[in-house]
Amino acid sequence: MTDSSAAPTSTEAAPGSQGLENLLSEERRFPPSPEFAVQANATADLYAWANADRPGFWADQARDLISWSTPFTQTLDWSDAPFARWFADGRLNAAYNAVDRHVEQGRGDRVALHFEGEGGDTRSLTYADLQREVSKAANAITALGVGTGDRVAIYMPLIPEAVVTMLACARIGAPHSVVFGGFSAEALSSRILDAEAKLVVTADGGFRRGKPSALKPAVDEALAKGAPSVAHVLVVRRTGQPVEWTAGRDVWWHEAVDVASSEHTPVDVEAEHPLFILYTSGTTGKPKGIFHTTGGYLTQAAYTHLNVFDLKPETDVYWCTADIGWVTGHTYVVYGPLINGATQVIYEGTPDTPHRGRWWEIVQKYGVTILYTAPTAIRTCMKWGEEIPGQFDLSSLRVLGSVGEPINPEAWMWYRRVIGGDRTPIVDTWWQTETGAIMISPLPGVTVSKPGSAQVPLPGVAADVVDDDAKPVPNGGGGYLVLTEPWPAMLRGIWGDPERYKDTYWSRFKDIYFAGDGAKKDDDGDIWLLGRVDDVMNVSGHRLSTTEIESALVSHPWVAEAAVVGATDETTGQAVVAFVILRGDATQAADADAATVQDTLRAHVAKEIGPIARPRQILVVAELPKTRSGKIMRRLLRDVAEHRKVGDATTLADSSVMDLIAEGLAKPA
Ligand code: ATP
Ligand code: MG
Repeated sequence: MTDSSAAPTSTEAAPGSQGLENLLSEERRFPPSPEFAVQANATADLYAWANADRPGFWADQARDLISWSTPFTQTLDWSDAPFARWFADGRLNAAYNAVDRHVEQGRGDRVALHFEGEGGDTRSLTYADLQREVSKAANAITALGVGTGDRVAIYMPLIPEAVVTMLACARIGAPHSVVFGGFSAEALSSRILDAEAKLVVTADGGFRRGKPSALKPAVDEALAKGAPSVAHVLVVRRTGQPVEWTAGRDVWWHEAVDVASSEHTPVDVEAEHPLFILYTSGTTGKPKGIFHTTGGYLTQAAYTHLNVFDLKPETDVYWCTADIGWVTGHTYVVYGPLINGATQVIYEGTPDTPHRGRWWEIVQKYGVTILYTAPTAIRTCMKWGEEIPGQFDLSSLRVLGSVGEPINPEAWMWYRRVIGGDRTPIVDTWWQTETGAIMISPLPGVTVSKPGSAQVPLPGVAADVVDDDAKPVPNGGGGYLVLTEPWPAMLRGIWGDPERYKDTYWSRFKDIYFAGDGAKKDDDGDIWLLGRVDDVMNVSGHRLSTTEIESALVSHPWVAEAAVVGATDETTGQAVVAFVILRGDATQAADADAATVQDTLRAHVAKEIGPIARPRQILVVAELPKTRSGKIMRRLLRDVAEHRKVGDATTLADSSVMDLIAEGLAKPA
């Protein structure tokens, strides 16, 4: 094993033991309203269509949703499994599909991007504008010596130029590798080296928490470590901060792109031409350079975006809050929405700048109809209090989505009630950087939804929950989430490391893809995600999920957020240790001291899910360690709980969090 992230660890159950215990039960149900169901893009027929002939179903989607310069005749080639080829003899261009064809078909005046800067500056780009900008950027990037197949690293704030750069790369067939703008020079350097990027596109800086935050110095530092492949750095002027300049290497965007021709012919590529490389969030270990190709990825991006969010391109205003540094930003900010001709909002800044109602103000301002965000954001808004969204008109919203982590049922209920006015369907979408697009999710006009569950594989997707012997668990059982059939947007590998690809995803079970997540099936056969298999705890022979215990804690009115880990314990093998963030007002009102908080919450977990899950210890903290994409990094907390040196924390959003937690623990109670 070269990588531990998806591999079962020694903390797992003894061989032969059956899956995870099924602890928490959730009885609330939300059927789609008849008004929603009747207008929905996706109906129940989709399942039957896909089940009748899965590859044929995907081929139909590929023909319906994507424009091919050379139509494909082959659908799936799985002869070299686990290396898939989809639509392999077809040719197309991703940027043409995302931009030009909308202009050609008379939709050039439709707004593609409403950009909202953190400081309140705004720009709207129509599809015709986007076509001009992308063409200019493609010409400029070509002039800098980048050709089809060369890699381009993108290290930018969430400004229109970032989207333009991604599309310009796609237009010339140069795979992009977007590196989140919050990452350090070191993280950037390792990604530039791994992909052997020829060009780095960046900005002087971006705006964050009301201040300019520099980016160019990190590029300079990363390149100073040595990067023989990089010939040029293209720099957007965003903040106006002074920058160091390396003559001959560095080029201003406004000098190269603004003056370039707005005529450019998209380069046709094979369906299997690499579109991008993207590193995983690093929640469980060292990030992996996942790469995706063109035809299959775009097909599933467009299909899921249209059906899961029920997009009506003429009337909807869509907003996905993810940064382009994450896969969610690739599939559901850039490729899915633009392929479908959507009008969307992109926002540069943080949710609390200049005030905690900023997101809701944006929803009101643009009349956002579809909102897609992460549980961490929802829990943060819960902590801030519902009076804040209550000050804005959110009645335009009609579909809400969640991605990135399991959403605790209480957070789901809050999202629906406070943001969705008790009216909107919620789609809890499970997928990964590796899957490229949504795999498991309710369909908003079809599925009777359950708070906290991603529920059903989408039409065309084959997912299951299996035991140690790869046998599907019965309803009510728990085990490992797997994907049993190839899908169009699946990763084609780990960049430059085919062995690691096979090892990480295909060695745990024969011929099926192991996602690394634990899950259970409820009595209806619906899927509930239970957290990373790496995080599963084994307490006195019982396999307990982090998600269920965390959800039990969050269901207590005092708790805003919780993270649970298993720590070595002499008597029980492992013991549950919980880290909680309290809702300040609630605990103050209850006048609870530390001992009362401990006792109350331990008893609450025992009551909600049983004495076996009662935490040995509950530690109150001010912050939890999270990745830049907002996922809790339990492995670091496990290091703390077991008094070990804290492991790789390069993708941690705020490195001081671990010091604060360690200090808090060192203090006597
Ligand atoms: P690494 O693989 O480097 O540890 P990561 O898994 O966090 O990082 P991503 O690809 O960004 O990187 O995240 C995918 C993971 O996020 C899934 O495997 C799953 O654990 C979690 N996830 C995403 N969406 C959901 C969801 N709706 N419900 C539960 N878990 C989810
Ligand atoms: Mg992962």
